[in-house]
Amino acid sequence: MTPTSALSVPKRLILAKPRGFCAGVERAIEIVEIALKIYPPPVYVYHEIVHNTHVVKDLGSRGAIFVNSVSETPDGSVLVFSAHGVSPAIREEAKLKNLKLIDATCPLVTKVHMEAILFAKQGNTIILVGHEGHDEVVGTMGEAPERIVLVDTPEDVEKLQVENPDKVAVITQTTLSLDDTKDTIAAIKKKFPKVIFPPKEDICYATTNRQIAVKDLAKKADLVLVIGSENSSNSKRLQEVSKDMGVRAHLIDDVTKIRQEWFQGVETVAITAGASAPEHLVQEVLEYFRKLGVSEVKEVEVISEAVKFGLPPELTKELSQAAR
Ligand code: SF4
Repeated sequence: MTPTSALSVPKRLILAKPRGFCAGVERAIEIVEIALKIYPPPVYVYHEIVHNTHVVKDLGSRGAIFVNSVSETPDGSVLVFSAHGVSPAIREEAKLKNLKLIDATCPLVTKVHMEAILFAKQGNTIILVGHEGHDEVVGTMGEAPERIVLVDTPEDVEKLQVENPDKVAVITQTTLSLDDTKDTIAAIKKKFPKVIFPPKEDICYATTNRQIAVKDLAKKADLVLVIGSENSSNSKRLQEVSKDMGVRAHLIDDVTKIRQEWFQGVETVAITAGASAPEHLVQEVLEYFRKLGVSEVKEVEVISEAVKFGLPPELTKELSQAAR
């Protein structure tokens, strides 16, 4: 997109840090990249590996085929489970097809699955706070479908009826808004005073840190641009969090979605990116503003991050065999 000079031009950009890829997304993409190197193409991926159109398109051009059901994969082929995780039923179906399975589920999603299994074994009704239909929620609910109920809002909690109000546990989708979830959790605590929680928060560090950073920047900005795809839960939450701060915010897939009329009366633009958005998309947006004549660009580090996850054992084993 070529900027035109007739319209308003912001004075400065502030760039959130942390932004963009989290450790779970980096790992999931690396897993597909390695699989594409060590196995003959194609490599099948169950659902979008991460919720970003550019990542999916890029891996697709290199030999990955994204499928929405196990039945779409030929017997004996390689299948990668996405970062959002899958239900045990999908794992079983895949095993029956004699597939080479590689699990790119983020370890922090696996942690929520483990909590669901444990709480179900203890005889609790499990309230999952999350968004209906999201891949992660579908996978988590599959761990104990007969014991998990899904709620999204305090109103959902109001309507909820459970078997035994004294045996209730709560788990949470990893990519929710911290503020919205607080209200839902407060409603759950009010209705079920004996409710129990996992020892460690489910909303993950990356979601939390990106929301804290964008809140900090939104205080100083007239407009927030969030780089991320429409189906990316954590990216959408960054837009919502900014709007809740009283600042206009747009979720953009890439630089081509920017509209210069948004800059009318805008001096400072804050930029962030969802956990599944690659850094090159951020750099392309910065380049757009540079061409527009914005020279004041400041990166603001609100929280430092140094999380890294190891590769799954099924892949490290293959890699060490390939190296011999
Ligand atoms: S957003 Fe959080 S849970 Fe999701 S992949 Fe990243 S680190 Fe894992």
